Amino acid sequence: MLKIGCHLSSSGGFTAMGKTAVSIDANVFQFFTRNPRGGAAKDIDESDVAAFLDLAKEAGISNMLAHAPYTLNPCAEKPNVRQFAFETMADDLRRMEYIPGSLYNFHPGSHVGQGIEKGIELIAEVLNEVMWPEMTTTVLLETMAGKGSEVGSRFEELREIIDRAKYPEKIGVCLDTCHVYDAGYDIAGDLDGVLSRFDETVGLSRLRAIHLNDSKNPFSSHKDRHEKIGEGSLGISVFETVINHPVLRELPFYLETPNELDGYAREIAMLRGLYRE
Ligand code: FE
Ligand code: FE
Ligand code: ZN
Repeated sequence: MLKIGCHLSSSGGFTAMGKTAVSIDANVFQFFTRNPRGGAAKDIDESDVAAFLDLAKEAGISNMLAHAPYTLNPCAEKPNVRQFAFETMADDLRRMEYIPGSLYNFHPGSHVGQGIEKGIELIAEVLNEVMWPEMTTTVLLETMAGKGSEVGSRFEELREIIDRAKYPEKIGVCLDTCHVYDAGYDIAGDLDGVLSRFDETVGLSRLRAIHLNDSKNPFSSHKDRHEKIGEGSLGISVFETVINHPVLRELPFYLETPNELDGYAREIAMLRGLYRE
Protein backbone atom coordinates (compact mmCIF):
# COMPACT_ATOMS: atom_id res chain seq x y z
CA MET A 1 0.00 0.00 0.00
CA LEU A 2 1.18 3.51 -0.82
CA LYS A 3 2.50 5.28 2.28
CA ILE A 4 1.32 8.82 1.82
CA GLY A 5 0.35 11.77 3.96
CA CYS A 6 1.05 15.43 4.40
CA HIS A 7 2.26 18.05 6.78
CA LEU A 8 -0.20 18.48 9.69
CA SER A 9 -0.53 21.10 12.40
CA SER A 10 0.76 19.78 15.72
CA SER A 11 -1.07 22.38 17.81
CA GLY A 12 -3.76 19.90 18.98
CA GLY A 13 -1.31 17.18 19.98
CA PHE A 14 -0.53 13.72 18.61
CA THR A 15 -3.97 12.12 18.89
CA ALA A 16 -5.53 15.00 16.99
CA MET A 17 -2.95 14.58 14.23
CA GLY A 18 -3.66 10.85 14.08
CA LYS A 19 -7.40 11.48 13.72
CA THR A 20 -6.82 14.09 11.05
CA ALA A 21 -4.56 11.69 9.16
CA VAL A 22 -7.27 9.02 9.23
CA SER A 23 -9.87 11.53 8.01
CA ILE A 24 -7.87 12.29 4.85
CA ASP A 25 -6.79 8.67 4.20
CA ALA A 26 -3.16 9.40 5.15
CA ASN A 27 -1.07 6.61 6.69
CA VAL A 28 2.03 8.73 7.35
CA PHE A 29 2.37 12.40 8.33
CA GLN A 30 4.82 15.17 9.10
CA PHE A 31 4.60 17.83 11.81
CA PHE A 32 6.69 20.64 13.26
CA THR A 33 8.30 19.91 16.61
CA ARG A 34 7.47 23.49 17.64
CA ASN A 35 6.58 26.78 16.00
CA PRO A 36 8.41 26.69 12.62
CA ARG A 37 9.94 30.07 13.42
CA GLY A 38 11.37 28.74 16.68
CA GLY A 39 10.46 29.18 20.31
CA ALA A 40 9.67 26.73 23.08
CA ALA A 41 7.96 23.40 22.46
CA LYS A 42 4.86 22.43 24.40
CA ASP A 43 5.31 19.86 27.17
CA ILE A 44 4.79 16.28 26.06
CA ASP A 45 1.40 14.98 27.24
CA GLU A 46 2.08 11.33 27.97
CA SER A 47 -1.57 10.28 27.90
CA ASP A 48 -1.95 11.95 24.50
CA VAL A 49 1.12 10.09 23.22
CA ALA A 50 -0.21 6.77 24.57
CA ALA A 51 -3.62 7.31 22.95
CA PHE A 52 -1.93 8.27 19.71
CA LEU A 53 0.28 5.17 19.65
CA ASP A 54 -2.85 2.99 20.05
CA LEU A 55 -4.65 4.84 17.30
CA ALA A 56 -1.61 4.67 15.00
CA LYS A 57 -1.37 0.92 15.46
CA GLU A 58 -5.06 0.42 14.80
CA ALA A 59 -5.17 2.73 11.78
CA GLY A 60 -1.89 1.54 10.27
CA ILE A 61 -0.17 4.91 10.64
CA SER A 62 3.63 4.72 10.58
CA ASN A 63 6.69 6.78 9.72
CA MET A 64 5.95 9.84 11.82
CA LEU A 65 8.27 12.54 10.54
CA ALA A 66 9.09 15.51 12.74
CA HIS A 67 10.41 18.60 10.97
CA ALA A 68 12.79 20.93 12.79
CA PRO A 69 12.03 24.68 12.71
CA TYR A 70 13.12 26.58 9.58
CA THR A 71 15.04 29.05 11.69
CA LEU A 72 17.37 26.34 12.91
CA ASN A 73 20.80 26.87 11.34
CA PRO A 74 23.49 24.47 12.56
CA CYS A 75 26.13 26.24 10.43
CA ALA A 76 25.30 29.81 11.35
CA GLU A 77 28.17 32.21 11.92
CA LYS A 78 26.55 33.98 14.89
CA PRO A 79 27.14 32.00 18.10
CA ASN A 80 23.62 32.62 19.46
CA VAL A 81 22.00 31.31 16.26
CA ARG A 82 24.16 28.21 16.35
CA GLN A 83 23.45 27.76 20.05
CA PHE A 84 19.72 27.77 19.25
CA ALA A 85 20.33 24.93 16.76
CA PHE A 86 22.22 22.90 19.37
CA GLU A 87 19.60 23.36 22.07
CA THR A 88 16.59 22.87 19.79
CA MET A 89 17.90 19.71 18.15
CA ALA A 90 18.99 18.22 21.47
CA ASP A 91 15.57 18.95 23.00
CA ASP A 92 13.65 17.75 19.91
CA LEU A 93 15.60 14.49 19.76
CA ARG A 94 15.02 13.78 23.45
CA ARG A 95 11.28 14.33 22.96
CA MET A 96 11.22 12.15 19.83
CA GLU A 97 11.94 9.13 22.00
CA TYR A 98 8.31 9.29 23.18
CA ILE A 99 7.41 8.00 19.71
CA PRO A 100 10.28 5.54 19.24
CA GLY A 101 11.63 4.68 15.82
CA SER A 102 10.44 7.88 14.13
CA LEU A 103 12.14 10.25 11.71
CA TYR A 104 13.51 13.75 12.38
CA ASN A 105 14.15 15.95 9.35
CA PHE A 106 16.12 19.19 9.27
CA HIS A 107 17.50 21.65 6.72
CA PRO A 108 21.29 21.29 6.91
CA GLY A 109 21.61 25.06 7.06
CA SER A 110 23.06 28.13 5.37
CA HIS A 111 26.77 28.79 5.66
CA VAL A 112 26.20 32.56 5.30
CA GLY A 113 29.45 33.24 3.50
CA GLN A 114 31.70 30.95 5.56
CA GLY A 115 31.92 28.52 2.61
CA ILE A 116 30.43 25.09 1.96
CA GLU A 117 33.30 23.20 3.58
CA LYS A 118 33.08 25.18 6.81
CA GLY A 119 29.31 24.75 6.75
CA ILE A 120 29.62 20.97 6.43
CA GLU A 121 32.07 20.87 9.31
CA LEU A 122 29.79 22.90 11.59
CA ILE A 123 26.70 20.81 10.73
CA ALA A 124 28.52 17.56 11.51
CA GLU A 125 29.73 19.04 14.79
CA VAL A 126 26.15 19.83 15.88
CA LEU A 127 24.94 16.35 14.87
CA ASN A 128 27.76 14.68 16.77
CA GLU A 129 26.90 16.67 19.86
CA VAL A 130 23.11 16.12 19.91
CA MET A 131 22.96 12.45 18.85
CA TRP A 132 23.68 9.52 21.15
CA PRO A 133 24.23 5.78 20.69
CA GLU A 134 20.92 4.51 22.11
CA MET A 135 18.57 6.91 20.32
CA THR A 136 15.90 5.24 18.17
CA THR A 137 15.19 8.19 15.87
CA THR A 138 16.68 8.42 12.40
CA VAL A 139 17.88 11.94 11.63
CA LEU A 140 17.25 13.01 8.03
CA LEU A 141 19.17 15.62 6.07
CA GLU A 142 16.80 17.29 3.60
CA THR A 143 17.96 17.88 0.03
CA MET A 144 17.85 21.65 -0.51
CA ALA A 145 17.08 23.89 -3.50
CA GLY A 146 20.34 25.82 -3.18
CA LYS A 147 18.95 29.26 -2.57
CA GLY A 148 21.32 31.74 -0.96
CA SER A 149 24.13 29.90 0.81
CA GLU A 150 22.19 26.71 1.57
CA VAL A 151 24.23 23.59 2.22
CA GLY A 152 22.81 20.30 0.92
CA SER A 153 21.69 21.12 -2.60
CA ARG A 154 24.29 18.71 -3.98
CA PHE A 155 24.32 15.05 -3.02
CA GLU A 156 28.08 15.25 -2.43
CA GLU A 157 27.52 17.76 0.38
CA LEU A 158 25.10 15.40 2.13
CA ARG A 159 27.63 12.63 1.76
CA GLU A 160 30.35 14.77 3.32
CA ILE A 161 28.17 15.52 6.35
CA ILE A 162 27.43 11.80 6.80
CA ASP A 163 31.13 10.98 6.40
CA ARG A 164 31.92 13.20 9.40
CA ALA A 165 29.13 11.80 11.58
CA LYS A 166 29.81 9.83 14.73
CA TYR A 167 26.56 7.83 14.31
CA PRO A 168 26.18 7.50 10.51
CA GLU A 169 23.90 4.47 10.92
CA LYS A 170 21.29 6.81 12.44
CA ILE A 171 21.44 9.34 9.60
CA GLY A 172 19.42 9.27 6.40
CA VAL A 173 18.20 11.61 3.68
CA CYS A 174 14.79 13.07 2.87
CA LEU A 175 14.54 13.88 -0.82
CA ASP A 176 12.28 16.83 -1.63
CA THR A 177 11.09 16.65 -5.26
CA CYS A 178 10.69 20.44 -5.57
CA HIS A 179 14.08 21.11 -4.01
CA VAL A 180 16.10 18.64 -6.09
CA TYR A 181 14.49 19.85 -9.32
CA ASP A 182 15.22 23.45 -8.31
CA ALA A 183 18.76 22.38 -7.44
CA GLY A 184 19.38 21.07 -10.96
CA TYR A 185 18.62 17.34 -10.70
CA ASP A 186 16.32 16.56 -13.60
CA ILE A 187 13.84 14.15 -12.02
CA ALA A 188 11.37 15.00 -14.81
CA GLY A 189 13.65 14.08 -17.71
CA ASP A 190 15.95 11.51 -16.15
CA LEU A 191 14.75 10.12 -12.80
CA ASP A 192 16.83 6.95 -13.18
CA GLY A 193 19.94 9.04 -13.80
CA VAL A 194 19.30 11.17 -10.71
CA LEU A 195 18.73 8.09 -8.57
CA SER A 196 21.90 6.45 -9.76
CA ARG A 197 23.85 9.62 -8.97
CA PHE A 198 22.27 9.56 -5.52
CA ASP A 199 23.23 5.92 -5.14
CA GLU A 200 26.84 6.58 -6.16
CA THR A 201 27.31 9.53 -3.78
CA VAL A 202 25.05 8.90 -0.77
CA GLY A 203 23.72 5.36 -1.28
CA LEU A 204 20.07 4.50 -1.84
CA SER A 205 19.89 2.69 1.51
CA ARG A 206 20.11 6.13 3.14
CA LEU A 207 17.05 7.42 1.31
CA ARG A 208 14.32 7.19 3.96
CA ALA A 209 11.60 9.70 3.01
CA ILE A 210 10.29 11.74 0.09
CA HIS A 211 8.78 15.22 0.29
CA LEU A 212 6.34 15.25 -2.59
CA ASN A 213 5.97 18.78 -3.97
CA ASP A 214 5.55 20.28 -7.41
CA SER A 215 7.61 23.42 -8.11
CA LYS A 216 6.37 26.89 -9.07
CA ASN A 217 9.63 27.52 -10.88
CA PRO A 218 11.44 26.01 -13.86
CA PHE A 219 14.26 23.47 -13.68
CA SER A 220 17.40 24.53 -11.81
CA SER A 221 15.98 27.86 -10.61
CA HIS A 222 17.30 27.55 -7.01
CA LYS A 223 14.12 29.14 -5.68
CA ASP A 224 12.24 26.66 -3.42
CA ARG A 225 8.59 27.55 -4.03
CA HIS A 226 6.28 24.56 -3.69
CA GLU A 227 3.26 24.05 -5.97
CA LYS A 228 0.25 21.76 -5.82
CA ILE A 229 0.80 18.28 -7.33
CA GLY A 230 0.41 18.46 -11.11
CA GLU A 231 0.10 22.27 -11.23
CA GLY A 232 3.79 23.15 -11.37
CA SER A 233 6.79 22.66 -13.63
CA LEU A 234 7.06 18.95 -12.74
CA GLY A 235 3.55 17.86 -13.68
CA ILE A 236 1.43 14.86 -12.73
CA SER A 237 3.19 12.24 -14.87
CA VAL A 238 6.44 12.82 -12.96
CA PHE A 239 4.65 12.10 -9.68
CA GLU A 240 3.06 8.98 -11.12
CA THR A 241 6.55 7.80 -12.09
CA VAL A 242 8.07 8.76 -8.73
CA ILE A 243 5.54 6.96 -6.50
CA ASN A 244 5.67 3.81 -8.65
CA HIS A 245 9.43 3.72 -9.17
CA PRO A 246 10.84 0.36 -7.99
CA VAL A 247 13.41 1.96 -5.67
CA LEU A 248 11.05 4.61 -4.27
CA ARG A 249 7.61 2.97 -4.09
CA GLU A 250 8.01 1.52 -0.57
CA LEU A 251 9.20 4.81 0.95
CA PRO A 252 6.91 7.17 2.88
CA PHE A 253 5.75 10.21 0.85
CA TYR A 254 4.85 13.52 2.52
CA LEU A 255 3.01 16.34 0.75
CA GLU A 256 4.10 19.89 1.60
CA THR A 257 2.04 21.51 -1.11
CA PRO A 258 0.18 24.82 -0.64
CA ASN A 259 -3.11 23.27 0.50
CA GLU A 260 -5.66 23.22 3.27
CA LEU A 261 -6.82 19.82 4.53
CA ASP A 262 -9.39 19.29 1.75
CA GLY A 263 -6.72 19.94 -0.88
CA TYR A 264 -4.41 17.43 0.78
CA ALA A 265 -7.24 14.86 0.86
CA ARG A 266 -7.74 15.34 -2.89
CA GLU A 267 -4.03 14.97 -3.65
CA ILE A 268 -3.78 11.84 -1.50
CA ALA A 269 -6.80 10.30 -3.27
CA MET A 270 -5.39 11.21 -6.68
CA LEU A 271 -1.97 9.70 -5.90
CA ARG A 272 -3.51 6.55 -4.43
CA GLY A 273 -5.41 6.25 -7.70
CA LEU A 274 -2.15 6.42 -9.66
CA TYR A 275 -0.33 3.86 -7.49
CA ARG A 276 0.01 0.41 -9.05
CA GLU A 277 -0.60 -2.15 -6.28
FE1 FE B 1 11.81 21.17 4.81
FE1 FE C 1 10.61 19.70 2.08
ZN1 ZN D 1 10.81 23.76 0.40
